[in-house]
Amino acid sequence: NQKRSEKGRVGVFDESLREHLLRELRLRDHLENAVHRHELFLVYQPIIATDTGKIDAVEALLRWRLDNEMIPPDEFIGVAEQYGFIRAIGLWVLGEACLAGKRMHAQSPELGISVNVSIQQLLDEDFPDEVAATLKHTDFPAHCLDLEITESLFAHDKRRLIDNIARLKKTGIKVSIDDFGTGYSSLSVMQEFHVDYVKIDRSFIWSMDTGGRAIVEAVSQIASAFDYKVVAEGVETEEQRRLLTNMGIEYLQGYLFLPPVSEEQLMQHLL
Ligand code: C2E
Ligand code: MG
Ligand code: MG
Ligand code: MG
Repeated sequence: NQKRSEKGRVGVFDESLREHLLRELRLRDHLENAVHRHELFLVYQPIIATDTGKIDAVEALLRWRLDNEMIPPDEFIGVAEQYGFIRAIGLWVLGEACLAGKRMHAQSPELGISVNVSIQQLLDEDFPDEVAATLKHTDFPAHCLDLEITESLFAHDKRRLIDNIARLKKTGIKVSIDDFGTGYSSLSVMQEFHVDYVKIDRSFIWSMDTGGRAIVEAVSQIASAFDYKVVAEGVETEEQRRLLTNMGIEYLQGYLFLPPVSEEQLMQHLL
């Protein structure tokens, strides 16, 4: 009896593992051609300046529609990284974001565009030159581009990362640390990498009534000591907005203002 149920459990495990692997392989097979098939597109979420209440920048977020199913980036970015597609996809995202940014500038000349980059892109020696080339051929101003790096990935070749960030900053672009506080050695990251913005992870914003508030306050104080501006992610309620505003957090982003929307919809909000 015992044996049979053990066996059953193993069977269930095998089945879900098998399904997981099959899905991953399906995503891999389609992702390789997703750019050419026009299955990828960008949506844009405003980042609000706390003092004016106005849209200061937008974050470009990648979307993938595969056979009428929306595959979330948290699922396919990992697949792209694992199977070596992220550099090509990342470069496509950068070009698209700069082109869209250029169109948005017709309405909001100083609007910033934030683009998420994978650590594999940042480790690539050619990346800073590719960014410079993209800015040139899209005619998008460097000071309006911000690259977001997820801080938990700072466990790589530190020398190379510091060099590449310095080269990127020389082109005039901005750099952000994304999801701040969720990785490790967070504070030393602020000390060692010279960036412009620190984006506090939404988990701290959501737990402000149970202790997250002290963390947000501490991060904000340390960030301003290093001259980094702070963005609070995942702001969903008026109460969160009020607390963050009182703490002097410079920028806010979240569903309270707007979820990620199409370029067309965003344009309505830029008017
Ligand atoms: P992220 O860069 O931290 O982006 C913020 C995520 O939080 C987005 O999810 C956004 O839709 C969501 N969000 C924003 N405000 C709220 C809110 O108030 N409440 C809630 N519940 N969620 C909110 P999304 O678009 O699913 O992206 C997930 C992650 O995928 C991103 O996290 C980013 O790390 C990655 N990603 C997205 N696009 C790209 C890309 O082009 N390249 C790379 N390398 N990664 C990307
Ligand atoms: Mg981001
Ligand atoms: Mg992230
Ligand atoms: Mg984030």
